[in-house]
Amino acid sequence: MTIRQLPDILINQIAAGEVVERPASVVKELVENALDAGASRVDIDLEEGGVRLIRIRDNGGGIGADQLALAVSRHATSKIASLDDLEGVATLGFRGEALPSIASVSRFALSSRHADNEHGHVLEVDGGRVGEVMPKSHPQGTTVEVRDLFFNTPARRKFLRAERTELGHIEEWLRQLALARPDVELRVTHNGKPSRRWKGEGSLLDGAALSDTRINETLGEEFGRNALRVDHAAAGLRLHGWIAQPAYNRASTDQQYLFVNGRAVRDRSVAHAVKQAYSDVLFHGRHPAYVLFLELDPRRVDVNVHPAKHEVRFRDARLIHDFVYRTLHEALAGTRAGTAAGVGT
Ligand code: ADP
Ligand code: MG
Repeated sequence: MTIRQLPDILINQIAAGEVVERPASVVKELVENALDAGASRVDIDLEEGGVRLIRIRDNGGGIGADQLALAVSRHATSKIASLDDLEGVATLGFRGEALPSIASVSRFALSSRHADNEHGHVLEVDGGRVGEVMPKSHPQGTTVEVRDLFFNTPARRKFLRAERTELGHIEEWLRQLALARPDVELRVTHNGKPSRRWKGEGSLLDGAALSDTRINETLGEEFGRNALRVDHAAAGLRLHGWIAQPAYNRASTDQQYLFVNGRAVRDRSVAHAVKQAYSDVLFHGRHPAYVLFLELDPRRVDVNVHPAKHEVRFRDARLIHDFVYRTLHEALAGTRAGTAAGVGT
């Protein structure tokens, strides 16, 4: 038996197995990078469900020419520098592995111009083989192009589904994003045609939370008409957003959106608390619809649970469960007088 150190490209391809499941995961990682860079507008161009091309352009801070090579190397990040930073991480990214992973399983190009630079530059990576940084005109901000995803990993490529299915996964993720960041303008094209557009609405810092317009555009007007506004804070926790009146309920959990400090996550304990709050106003087998934002000190939640960051771990899970339950139980009090007759699908 011989133990060998694996080459970097292979290490990145192994990591890609966890981070890059399908085109939607690439879109997620790249748009999160744009948001972490402070972009107020993100353009997303897709071809063939993202399998042929994913191009994400942002107007964020950009990357300096001397940093491009670092950006595509593994465990290189500008977002944390210490364990202390990790424990209080407020950015969407922090692992420094999305770009090298994606670049190892695609034909990849990173073009950017940093606010301090006069000219832009581009760095191409072909299936993990990193090229030279070259000058290229680019407005301030960054463009990442990902072509032919999994072209060099046939086993992964085989798991890609029909164009429509992959596009559906991307759109589902974009809906989450549109709900989480109403302040950002998003434009999407597919096969050269405009497919979705969300206008940016004010600033998150002004407390300009999700507008009725964006709720209606994203979840449908029927949800909007049946939604109750929730906003409650206690014990350093804040829960706000919209929950549907029981009369509007679903056959599945397809309209359940939870954001923890702005990150879309799935959490069984919170989902359970919501379900319990609805238990006496919903028919058995029906599911509530909601868009909820939970905010708390980042030190009370561990986001470093899984490479794809879909899950979090709360330090005081029980407290949070009870807080969510009580807030929603209270919010639904007015609906208990009525019946649980159903609209919706
Ligand atoms: P992470 O987001 O975990 O830091 P990534 O591999 O996604 O790791 O990105 C590596 C680094 O490249 C980031 O830390 C950031 O400094 C830089 N970067 C990536 N995308 C962008 C972007 N769109 N705008 C500005 N900087 C970016
Ligand atoms: Mg990232």
